[in-house]
Amino acid sequence: MTLRQVLRVAAGIGFSVLATMVFMMIVSSLPGYEIPGRFFTLSMACAASVSAPVTLLFVYQENRIRKLHSDLERAYASLERTARTDQMTGIANRDTFLTRVSSRLASRDGWLIVADADDFKQINDTYGHPVGDRVIAAIGKAIRGCVRGNDLCGRLGGEEFGIFIDSDDPNAALAAAERIRLAVSALDFAVAPGRSISPTISLGFARAAKGQLDQSLRDADEALYAAKRSGRNRTVRHDPAPVLRLHTA
Ligand code: GH3
Ligand code: MG
Ligand code: MG
Repeated sequence: MTLRQVLRVAAGIGFSVLATMVFMMIVSSLPGYEIPGRFFTLSMACAASVSAPVTLLFVYQENRIRKLHSDLERAYASLERTARTDQMTGIANRDTFLTRVSSRLASRDGWLIVADADDFKQINDTYGHPVGDRVIAAIGKAIRGCVRGNDLCGRLGGEEFGIFIDSDDPNAALAAAERIRLAVSALDFAVAPGRSISPTISLGFARAAKGQLDQSLRDADEALYAAKRSGRNRTVRHDPAPVLRLHTA
């Protein structure tokens, strides 16, 4: 028992003895109800012997409830973490990532990168799904290692990832995308004795204007497919469509 608990038990017993004594004194002061001194002592001993186990039980139960409460809080926090996280990669899942980006875009602009592993179907087909899973997990880890400060990352689904760069500077987005591309191509998986593979990834990035999450996703996707079309393992910046001006005579 801690000192605090001992003090609580002592306070409980003290209170019940005191209350009994006050009650006895009030009763004894009534005409015809005088109580002999020895009964005072006896009633206080009674109060102490009843309140001691009750207070002990109360302190014990309070302790148990406090512990259960903190266990519950821990379990809830861990459940929340699990619900927010993509289990294969350990980074944010799609919903969490998009919610976080959306709340950033409520107050400021940034850059959005969409990254997709190259020829992943071929990796699965050649080496099997479990190897594919390991590659996805390693890519997620590599992306997390390349993301800095206030930037965000998440798995959008399959072998596709999203990264939000909290900066106005397009060069910051380009630098992050290239860091990720190089980190992924530096991965090395032993798939058979003496045989290893290095995955590659293509990335597209676009301006994410305040409140424009859907548009920035479409733009980054467009840039990503331009990267795929032009040979993969590269980063492409979304090029906003030129504004058409009609000049009439
Ligand atoms: P591209 O370079 O054009 O992106 O080609 P790709 O083969 O990567 O693209 P495609 O969309 O044709 O194939 C994606 C593959 O990724 C097919 C799908 O089975 C695989 N995939 C998606 N999610 C997972 C996963 O969680 N684990 C594994 N092992 N494979 C996955
Ligand atoms: Mg792919
Ligand atoms: Mg894909």
